[in-house]
Amino acid sequence: MDNKLREALLATAVEASQKAYAPYSQFMVGAAVLGKNGVIYPGANVENASYGLTNCAERSAVFSAVSAGENHFEAVAIASSGGVAPCGACRQVLHEFAPRINVLLIDINSKEQVTEISLEDLLPDPFPSKNGA
Ligand SMILES: [Zn+2]
Repeated sequence: MDNKLREALLATAVEASQKAYAPYSQFMVGAAVLGKNGVIYPGANVENASYGLTNCAERSAVFSAVSAGENHFEAVAIASSGGVAPCGACRQVLHEFAPRINVLLIDINSKEQVTEISLEDLLPDPFPSKNGA
């Protein structure tokens, strides 16, 4: 991925975090997946009064891309306070479509803080998927 695309992916994730609906946790998370078609799909976490219905930003982005017809991904960026890694559920959902994807984690409070890690390192023993290894 070239630098311009990487910066656009990170910026989209940061922008999406500002659109999060997180009145319960106040933990705003944004994500952006880069489709093989070159389109970047944003997602934000969407909470609910019935906490279990909450959807994470990563899954929002993936589901948005798949709903638009793209299900092959080149990279994902996730923006949050502290630049935290995705939860287990999101790791498994990412694995479904992109088992060898690189994950960029950006701290929205310190945007020069970007960590890059492979999904294989985050989820070394996934539940097997049709696309996966
Ligand atoms: Zn999650």
